Amino acid sequence: MTLIPGDGVGPEVIAAAVAVIEAVGVTIEWDRQEAGAAAFKRYGTPVPAQLLRSLRATRIALKGPLETRVAEGWRSINVYLRRTFDLYANIRPTMSFVGVPTPFRNVNLVVVRENTEDLYSGIEHEIAPGVVESIKVITARASRRIAKFAFEYASAHRRKSITAIHKANIMKLSDGLFLKCARAVARGYPEIRYTEQIVDAACMRLVTDPGSFDILLLENLYGDIVSDLCAGLVGGLGLVPGANYGDKGAIFEAVHGTAPDIAGKNVANPTAAILSSAMMLDYLGYQREGEKIRAATIAVLRSRKALTRDLGGEASTSDFTDAIIHGMSRA
Ligand code: ATP
Repeated sequence: MTLIPGDGVGPEVIAAAVAVIEAVGVTIEWDRQEAGAAAFKRYGTPVPAQLLRSLRATRIALKGPLETRVAEGWRSINVYLRRTFDLYANIRPTMSFVGVPTPFRNVNLVVVRENTEDLYSGIEHEIAPGVVESIKVITARASRRIAKFAFEYASAHRRKSITAIHKANIMKLSDGLFLKCARAVARGYPEIRYTEQIVDAACMRLVTDPGSFDILLLENLYGDIVSDLCAGLVGGLGLVPGANYGDKGAIFEAVHGTAPDIAGKNVANPTAAILSSAMMLDYLGYQREGEKIRAATIAVLRSRKALTRDLGGEASTSDFTDAIIHGMSRA
C-alpha cells in the first residue's frame, strides 16, 4: 500500500491512522511516498515519478492532505491524482457522534460526489480583458457511472434513499443531463427511493432537517461545497473521512486540508484520518477490523475523555490515538 503522509497536519494524523491499523492487528507493508510541499522541497516537483510509480503498482493509498500552492502550474495535486487514476467516486460518510458538541443530531448521511469533471475540468480562458470563461463539463458517461456507484453503494450498505442534488432549473443542459442519467440508473434499483432537490433548497434542508437525508448524489462542485457543510453539521472537518474510488484502485483521505494553523503541534484531530483508514480496511476485505476501529473511535468520542481542541477538549493527537488503541485492546 502507498502511504502519503502529506503536508501540514498530514504526517501527524496519518501516523495516528497507521498506529491504529497496526493495533487492530492488520499488517500492511507501506510504501512511504512524499507528495505536495514535502516532495517539492526535496525533488522540485509536488508529484515525483516514484510516487506515481508506487500508486500504479499498489493502486491503493492512504493519504494526508497536500499543499498545492507550492508549485506553479499545478492547480491541485489532489485533482491531478484523482484524474490520473480515474478515481471518479468521492465518498464521504458523515455521522453525528455522541459526545461531540453540535446543535445537530441524528446525522447519518453519505455524500457521493463525482470527482472528474464539472467546473473542475480546468478549462478556463480570458476572452477579453475583464471577461473570463470557466467551462462546466458534464458527460453522460461520468454521470451514469457516478449514479451507478451511488446505487451500488446504497445496496451494499443497506441505505434506503438517494437524493440527487442539482441546479437544473438554471443549468438546464448540464445539470439536466446529470439528472437524466441518474433517473435512468435509478430505474434499475426500484427498492431504493430516488428523489431530486435543488442545491439551495437542499442546503437549507441540511441545516433544518439533516436527519432526513440518506445518500446525497452530487456533481463535483456541489459535492465539494455540500460535503464541507455536512462536516460542519457533525462537528467539523477533523471528523469526516473520505475515499476516492475508481474501477481499479482507491485513495483514502480525510476531508480536511493541511490546517497550517495547527500543524506540527500535536493537536489535530486524527478522527477523520483514522476513519478513512477504516474505510481502507473495508476495501481490503478487513471489514471486522474496520468495524472495530470505528466502534473504538465512536466510544472514545462518546466518553469525552480525550477530546482534541477542535471539539472543546485538551487532549493531544497522540492522547486521542492512544485512547482508541487502549479501547480496542479491551474490546
Ligand atoms: P488547505 O488550504 O490545505 O485546504 P485550510 O486551512 O484552508 O487548508 P483546512 O485544512 O481544511 O483548510 O482547515 C480549515 C480549518 O479547520 C482550520 O482552522 C483548521 O485548523 C481546522 N481543521 C482542519 N482539519 C482539522 C483537524 N484534523 N483537526 C482540527 N482542526 C482541523
